[in-house]
Amino acid sequence: MNPLYRNDRVGQFPKSWYAATANFPDERPPLYGHTEADVCVIGAGFTGLSAALNLAKQGFSVVVLDAHRVGFGASGRNGGQVCSGYNKSQTWLAKSLGDAPARALWDLAEEAKADLRDQVSTVAPDARFRAGIVSACFTQAEADDEKRDAEFLAQAYGYDKIAPLDRTAIAGIVKSPLYVGGAIDEGAGHIHPLRFVFGLARLAEAAGARIFERSVKLSNGDVANDRGLVSMDKRALYPGPRGTLAETCAALGCPDSSALDPHLKQAHSVHFGADGGIGKCYLEFDPRLAPLPNLVFLALKWRGSDVRVNHYTNIAHHAHSDKVMLVDTWVPAGPVRAAMQSCLSLGRAGDPDDEAVVLLVTEVGSARTSVDISVADAGITLSEIAPTINPVFDAFDLNGAEFLRASGADRFGHIAAGTSRAGAPFATLYYGATQL
Ligand SMILES: Cc1cc2nc3c(=O)[nH]c(=O)nc-3n(C[C@H](O)[C@H](O)[C@H](O)COP(=O)(O)OP(=O)(O)OC[C@H]3O[C@@H](n4cnc5c(N)ncnc54)[C@H](O)[C@@H]3O)c2cc1C
Repeated sequence: MNPLYRNDRVGQFPKSWYAATANFPDERPPLYGHTEADVCVIGAGFTGLSAALNLAKQGFSVVVLDAHRVGFGASGRNGGQVCSGYNKSQTWLAKSLGDAPARALWDLAEEAKADLRDQVSTVAPDARFRAGIVSACFTQAEADDEKRDAEFLAQAYGYDKIAPLDRTAIAGIVKSPLYVGGAIDEGAGHIHPLRFVFGLARLAEAAGARIFERSVKLSNGDVANDRGLVSMDKRALYPGPRGTLAETCAALGCPDSSALDPHLKQAHSVHFGADGGIGKCYLEFDPRLAPLPNLVFLALKWRGSDVRVNHYTNIAHHAHSDKVMLVDTWVPAGPVRAAMQSCLSLGRAGDPDDEAVVLLVTEVGSARTSVDISVADAGITLSEIAPTINPVFDAFDLNGAEFLRASGADRFGHIAAGTSRAGAPFATLYYGATQL
């Protein structure tokens, strides 16, 4: 299972002292539709947000995507210790790397500490930097090492913030008779990491970065986390769009993308994706330039050496009754068909501009056919559409109530249903699609 979801529910912070004592900001919406940025940062932890902040400060347009929430990973649930130096002592580093590189590393770490303290005081004072980290030693040899390291730092670098602790002094701090001694570093300390990462996100946003939180897709009731789609203007593939398209498809494991080559020129956007073990590349067309009438997407889907071409044809211009008939033809009678018919009726029947987008999906050389109905533009949440989709959950014996409790505020995207290559019916609900 994808480690992103192994221990956690999507977007739900696990219980911790930090989570219990932080003020959670409103959830930021997922990224819907198309957007453009100079840089897309994946992951809103210390690393991603610091990168976003610094890039935004330099004038780059930045988008940050997180599969869960800001600070959901290690950054929001770590020990909060702001230590000096590294997990190897400076004496060890100096011996292993030489004096100058060891000193450069120390200076870098000191700079990071100063930077962090500065950010805490300006953007997240509630993360409270509290000075003092104690190293507690069980043995006299460990205590002697601590003392030697502290002396080295004081003499070689002028860092005089570490004081040795004898048995009495350390027992007064940690209230245990087990330690023979140790040291306290008053230049190191502790912060509330979750409050800090929330502050860092505020700072990045103030600098102009845009942050989007959880965005996943639901397939037959399971949160499918090995799926994803990255969309881009065709020009993002320049220079040499054809070569880059073929190279990207090849890098994604596609044995042959030549079916797309003749049509790349007419496409305005390209989407690369993965869906379980299936790789995908879609070309998207303006209706006037489509290679076939009303073709919106020409898609290549591959699994191993098996490559298929799919056509996504827009039938917006058809009468509402034709769309109803199409759903009746390709989707077996039952709750999925009823849900699709409800989605069709969400728009004002008879006005193609207001109706849900309906695409007929066919696969060249195969019986696989499905209908995609998208209501993404209507901005309907999963809670609002619950009366329509609950019967689908019930039909598949899925706990719809629990899913809706967790994800009810997410926007409903589209519903796809039809027959697989093997002739079996299938249905997929999509919500919170992430596109860039
Ligand atoms: C138990 C523990 C205690 C620690 N204690 C300390 C300490 O006391 N002091 C210290 O300095 N360091 C400590 N650390 C280390 C520190 O927490 C990490 O080095 C730091 O938080 C890493 O930040 P990050 O932004 O790189 O990763 P993370 O904070 O983990 O952020 C990664 C983010 O990326 C998102 N993500 C991942 N993949 C995708 C994807 N494909 N699409 C979208 N989003 C994605 C995740 O949801 C997550 O929010 C500790 C770590 C742990 C685990």
